[in-house]
Amino acid sequence: MRSVDEHRAAVAALIPAPRTVDLSPGLRPDLVLARDVRAPISLPPFTNSAMDGYAVRAADAPEGAVLPVAFDIPAGRTDVPALPPGAACRIMTGAPLPDGADAIVPVEQTDGGVEAVRIDVAPEPGRFFRAAGSDIEAGEVALRAGERVSAPAVGLAAALGLTALPVLEPLRVAVLSTGSELVRPGTPLLPGQIYESNAEMLAAALTESGGVTVEMLHFVEDSVDSLLARLAERVTAGGIDLVITTGGVSAGAYEVVKDALFGRGVEFVKVAMQPGMPQGCGTVELGDARVPFVTFPGNPVSALVSFEVFLRPALRAAMGLPDRPRRSARLAEPVDSILGKRQYLRGRLAKEDDGTDSVSVLGGPGSHYLRWLSQANCLLDVPAEVEHLAAGTPVDLIVLDGTH
Ligand code: AMP
Ligand code: MG
Repeated sequence: MRSVDEHRAAVAALIPAPRTVDLSPGLRPDLVLARDVRAPISLPPFTNSAMDGYAVRAADAPEGAVLPVAFDIPAGRTDVPALPPGAACRIMTGAPLPDGADAIVPVEQTDGGVEAVRIDVAPEPGRFFRAAGSDIEAGEVALRAGERVSAPAVGLAAALGLTALPVLEPLRVAVLSTGSELVRPGTPLLPGQIYESNAEMLAAALTESGGVTVEMLHFVEDSVDSLLARLAERVTAGGIDLVITTGGVSAGAYEVVKDALFGRGVEFVKVAMQPGMPQGCGTVELGDARVPFVTFPGNPVSALVSFEVFLRPALRAAMGLPDRPRRSARLAEPVDSILGKRQYLRGRLAKEDDGTDSVSVLGGPGSHYLRWLSQANCLLDVPAEVEHLAAGTPVDLIVLDGTH
């Protein structure tokens, strides 16, 4: 049997390095910058007022002075004349400072006059300005390679007038489930049928992980011809960087993924883990395309644990993004595990009354317990050589949500 680490390395080796493309920022929140981006202009581009008030020469505006208001400068005025000596001008927040002015008197520190203004508090030169380049100077690095193009980064790029950023092109991942028992939600179930859930779940997991564009191929019946036809229909045409399948890889009959892809470049292996023992991965030639495949088992818990353990870390690493956080917590109850298999139990991390964290195992080891999976906020990572853990023992966890 292959170890978890060996199979993880085999999966990681299949993930292509993302290309760099120029994309408009702001359209999706998970883009990663491929290169440093320098500011093409300074921000602010011009020195402007931080307050609604009056632009003056400080020397002309001692407390109690009454100055004529020469003109108004609303935000957006582009033809601002110089400030005449001995005068003030009304200026709004964000409006350019006139030549000659060296101070702003906020409107609250005046009588608010329109023709003439009385200064109630003598201004300090330089106060209430936002100097050109005080946020960023043209030529400085504004956005760094490897950073996610977050909402603030999108804001900065837009403020700098950038319409496209060099980002890692999201990998295009197709998801295809297999099983003759599967039907689409919305169709009544006949006895023996179930609704397809793996492709939906993996598509959501991929989207949540970020850095990929998901293409849903939905599901096919357990027929080699149907499976190959679906792949020929979409994947052979190109434009897919990775295919994930679920189901049809274990030891029974009607193992459609195995039957279709064995001898075509996919290696089917047993991994010493539970859930998720039957796994496969490899590169398949489809027409002119050479497409990496990762084949997960069909039980929903196995499929998602496989994604978390093998694929998510590899995809995140390809995008230069960190993996799920890991931590340890004490077991709330004793746990039995299978000797010789690394177990990934669904867990819930919670705060005890004394403020420490403890972790409970949710449900049993069955790989069909979707409800427990949906309530888990962590996976316990129990080593293969462990058979029993007493309550209070610290265990390693993969943290699945951001609340801990
Ligand atoms: P398999 O790996 O194909 O032998 O499937 C193992 C178990 O997972 C069976 O009970 C299947 O009905 C179930 N299963 C397989 N694929 C899916 C799927 N896409 N959605 C929900 N259940 C599935
Ligand atoms: Mg099946």
